Amino acid sequence: MIIVGLTGGIGSGKTTVGSFFEALGIPVYIADTEAKSLMVRSKVIRRKLIALFGDKTYNGKELNRPYIASKIFNDKSLLDQMNAIVHPKVASHFKRWLKKQDAPYVIKEAAIIFEHNKASEYDLIITVTADLEERIKRVMHRDQSSRAKIEAIISNQLSDSEKIKKSDYVIENHDLESTKNQVLTTHHQILKTIEKSKF
Ligand code: ATP
Repeated sequence: MIIVGLTGGIGSGKTTVGSFFEALGIPVYIADTEAKSLMVRSKVIRRKLIALFGDKTYNGKELNRPYIASKIFNDKSLLDQMNAIVHPKVASHFKRWLKKQDAPYVIKEAAIIFEHNKASEYDLIITVTADLEERIKRVMHRDQSSRAKIEAIISNQLSDSEKIKKSDYVIENHDLESTKNQVLTTHHQILKTIEKSKF
């Protein structure tokens, strides 16, 4: 099965673009959503996260997100340790999900592909881009988040121009109608590439 990575900076529109691929019948796996879900569902993850962050990690069944965010903010070592607990579980969950899919290719949305040197896990990569200011405004509106917090996340992500250089396809997400058209074009290009690679 061909795995197409869908990446882009915070608020670029990865999930929006993913939903347009889904409308074309392409299965989409959102790594971030699955990670959040596994952090609640998996007993192993729960136990390890409590060992790492302490008793306040969960409020009952729910993850205490503000507490964890405050812990990992400015502490890269803790963030790395959390990722080392969560990422392998997401990877095995993705493998199981992949086996159940029946489509010419699947899309895996992940904000961080190049930053963690994971490009080799994908056959093709799409980067979604959008104007920086537009991205900040979208996320401020979506998450009621502060500009400073979003800018801090952006400063830890690779720039669009770096991502573009490393990508097979780029989708510029400004007005949604144009984005939808670009998704359709990209979908056909991917199908052609797959078809060609069979010979
Ligand atoms: P994150 O990096 O936080 O996961 P993302 O890259 O997946 O974000 P989306 O969640 O798809 O981005 O989009 C961010 C917000 O901007 C959402 O509220 C979405 O509805 C809105 N949005 C996305 N694309 C557009 C667009 N072209 N025009 C207007 N609003 C948009």
